[in-house]
Amino acid sequence: MANEATEKVHVLIIGSGPAGYTAAIYAARANMKPVLYQGIQPGGQLTITTEVENYPGYPDGIQGPEMMVHFEKQAARMGADIRYGLATKVDFSQHPYKVQIDEEKWIEADAVIICTGASAKWLGLPSEERLNGFGVSACAVCDGFFFKGKEVAIVGAGDTAAEEALYLSKLCTTVHMFIRRDKMRASKVMQERVLNAPNIKVYWNTDTDEILGENKVEAVRIKNNQTQETQTIPISGFFVAIGHHPNSDIFKGWLDMDETGYLLTTPGTTKTNIEGVFAAGDVQDKNYRQAVTAAGSGCMAALDAERYLTTKGLV
Ligand SMILES: Cc1cc2nc3c(=O)[nH]c(=O)nc-3n(C[C@H](O)[C@H](O)[C@H](O)COP(=O)(O)OP(=O)(O)OC[C@H]3O[C@@H](n4cnc5c(N)ncnc54)[C@H](O)[C@@H]3O)c2cc1C
Repeated sequence: MANEATEKVHVLIIGSGPAGYTAAIYAARANMKPVLYQGIQPGGQLTITTEVENYPGYPDGIQGPEMMVHFEKQAARMGADIRYGLATKVDFSQHPYKVQIDEEKWIEADAVIICTGASAKWLGLPSEERLNGFGVSACAVCDGFFFKGKEVAIVGAGDTAAEEALYLSKLCTTVHMFIRRDKMRASKVMQERVLNAPNIKVYWNTDTDEILGENKVEAVRIKNNQTQETQTIPISGFFVAIGHHPNSDIFKGWLDMDETGYLLTTPGTTKTNIEGVFAAGDVQDKNYRQAVTAAGSGCMAALDAERYLTTKGLV
């Protein structure tokens, strides 16, 4: 496979969310001539949301897709080579590292910056898809503010769901929390906090049947999976907190990752276990998962790559 490589680049960036484009801006300005592959979701996760109000520099807020066009334009203006294409396989056995694009072409790179993000898991209801960005969200920290003083619902039973329910409970009048089983997966301390919050109402053995509303969320119909009884609750926002899937499958066997697939980096850096391979953004961050933190670590990755290439005498 190594013989099939058709192109040699200095710095290869995989992914076009806030982390990837920020890495591209910094790498291009440092004359590292980065080549960036966008993947199947050019612009990343923010292209599936509406208003972004918490990214600094936009006092009036901005639509997610528009913001990501700004990121792309800035990276292109600095000279980043931005391309359509999906990284389908890697071979990190020797330097320069090899990354296959679209199952065809191989790229050889002196340094690789992985910014492939993480995808939120969804329930799979058609109404959830239809109302996504119009009251349905997978991020309480991002979108909770839009429902200040209103009633919302959240689905999930793990620590993240508990954390997000507590976050929402500080903004919203009532948080209806739907849990599929008769217990939560969250740690004991988080469960206690949820159960003691006066405005979080927990529904056990409960499935979401349908999210109701024409152009925005107006209610949710739930079903008790023991009694089959249904109930409709008026709400303005519906949050899905059933987990994320880091887009790291192609790095399995090469890079260290935790049990859920998040890439592991040396704390305080973007270095992976392979020298010259860096990871930034949500693919290595299950904690913060924000555009600004992803962008920040994209910057770190470009600086780490620049130092690595300088030390190796490759720039
Ligand atoms: C509905 C929603 C609303 C949100 N709202 C906000 C908000 O208001 N404020 C905020 O700060 N954050 C928000 N977030 C979170 C924010 O979107 C993420 O934290 C951020 O986008 C992470 O950036 P990233 O660059 O790490 O990855 P992502 O944005 O996930 O981008 C990953 C990129 O990698 C590419 N990719 C994946 N696999 C491959 C591959 N094999 N080859 C090539 N490319 C690949 C994808 O195509 C994509 O371009 C929201 C998230 C969601 C889902």
